[in-house]
Amino acid sequence: MAEIIDGKIVAAEVVEGVKKSAAALAAHGVKPGLAVVIVGEDPASQVYVANKSRTAKECGFLSVQHTLAAETSEADVVALVEKLNVDPSIHGILVQLPLPAHIDAGKIIQTIAPDKDVDGFHFINVGKLATGEVDTALVPCTPFGSMLLIERKHGKDLSGLSAVVVGRSNIVGKPMAHLLLAANATVTIAHSRTKDLPALCRTADILVAAVGRPEMVKGDWVKPGATVIDVGINRIPAPDKGDGKSRLVGDVEFASAAKVAGAITPVPGGVGPMTIAMLMANTLVSAHRHAGLEYKG
Ligand code: NDP
Repeated sequence: MAEIIDGKIVAAEVVEGVKKSAAALAAHGVKPGLAVVIVGEDPASQVYVANKSRTAKECGFLSVQHTLAAETSEADVVALVEKLNVDPSIHGILVQLPLPAHIDAGKIIQTIAPDKDVDGFHFINVGKLATGEVDTALVPCTPFGSMLLIERKHGKDLSGLSAVVVGRSNIVGKPMAHLLLAANATVTIAHSRTKDLPALCRTADILVAAVGRPEMVKGDWVKPGATVIDVGINRIPAPDKGDGKSRLVGDVEFASAAKVAGAITPVPGGVGPMTIAMLMANTLVSAHRHAGLEYKG
């Protein structure tokens, strides 16, 4: 049976470290500030934003939430982001996605000042990551957190290990692949047009699933002893729990994969908790950079 990689524990450690570092920053008169912008009333987004704001407060940050009505114009969202860009008390700006259909999410993301782009989606940060400038980039939180879990298992140097990332989104798959490459893994990115995905997955020492398809990756897709990182979060019906009930599952069929893997992240409790922790870490890094201080995280 595989070792279970407990993201809750690692995330709590990251948040503890952030709290201590934020307290040390106070000696320099700096309080990290995170601004979260939410447009509309998507219930899942509201839960995510509330969790982010709460954790920021726990870390001793200035936590500002801007809740805008669903019909807010694109120009008004741009104007708010531009205001936050020049606000010296704010070091991290996060615009919660998805945005209502009349707002161009790409335009809003590219309006965020790259040095406050704690989601790491701005072209400048994407480009830095793609060119191996990881130390000066702001790295997208979910792959960054996944990478930390991989580091806990394999260390920072993945030389000689093969990694397969299933999924090529800009939010998870591609940045994940760049991080693995920067750590010297030999990386393959798979997607919906990949031929014989199970066979490809079986070549991976490190297998990352970021597909959005419940329990797609089966145990017999996993190389014996591999490390499996399940990024997926899927809600599926659970009639066994009662009428209308549901449960969260990943993109990996946990029961079968855990019998073959060397280590595996559960869902929930694996990559999920890491995402918010890395958002805090990114905001802290940004606050250090804005103050001209080195962050030794
Ligand atoms: P996207 O829908 O943007 O991307 C999914 C990717 O999976 C695409 O590249 C797609 O290929 C590929 N794919 C879809 N079906 C198949 C298939 N049958 N075989 C092979 N590849 C396939 O999703 P995201 O990257 O945004 O998210 C992926 C998962 O991670 C989701 O479950 C999401 O909920 C979860 N997630 C979790 C987070 C966390 O905090 N833990 C944060 C963000 C996401 P193609 O490009 O060819 O269409």
